[in-house]
Amino acid sequence: MKALEEKILKEGKVFAGDILNVGSFLNQQIDPAFMTEMAEEVYRLFSGEKITKVLTIESSGIAFGFAVARRFGTNLVFAKKSRTSNQNSDLLTAVIHSFTHGNDYTATVSAEYLSEGDNVLIVDDFLANGQALKGLIKIVHEAGAEVAGCVAAIEKGFQKGGDSIRGSGIRVESLAIIESMSDAGITFRPQ
Ligand code: 5GP
Repeated sequence: MKALEEKILKEGKVFAGDILNVGSFLNQQIDPAFMTEMAEEVYRLFSGEKITKVLTIESSGIAFGFAVARRFGTNLVFAKKSRTSNQNSDLLTAVIHSFTHGNDYTATVSAEYLSEGDNVLIVDDFLANGQALKGLIKIVHEAGAEVAGCVAAIEKGFQKGGDSIRGSGIRVESLAIIESMSDAGITFRPQ
């Protein structure tokens, strides 16, 4: 998505440890109009699919997931990263290694929100080593539902998560794929 690549070039900041900061429009501050444009692109990519649920993980996937779910006219479900007392005990779970925090956590979704027969589009803000998306795929399968595909707003193509998930036969679409990034600049994989 050309507009996203341009926004990354204009507003993105490359941090140590292969981290891209896009706090100005995707994470710490949300640009709703641009989020809506990104959701429109996701809708175009998956227009042939009957999506019944969108699934993401808190917290930075929620705004993008909300926009995508609104475009498809479905509900958004989000996995929680820590258990809270307002969840019931029937939980779908996956242990995920956090790219940004470097620790393991257990992601949970209440089983009542995903069912057999659902065709689920999984979305997240970033795709790096693929641990978050793989955890969400496990949760969908545990529910007996189908994975329609995965969408990342931004994939870091020099990390191997995207290739690994595609290799398992699951469709992965990323609105921008970064081929390389450093203080000297950011390059994108042509799509
Ligand atoms: P993965 O599980 O694919 O290794 O990492 C994806 C998760 O880590 C995303 O949910 C995202 O929140 C976070 N993440 C990975 N790389 C980056 C990055 O470069 N910038 C930001 N802001 N988050 C990232």
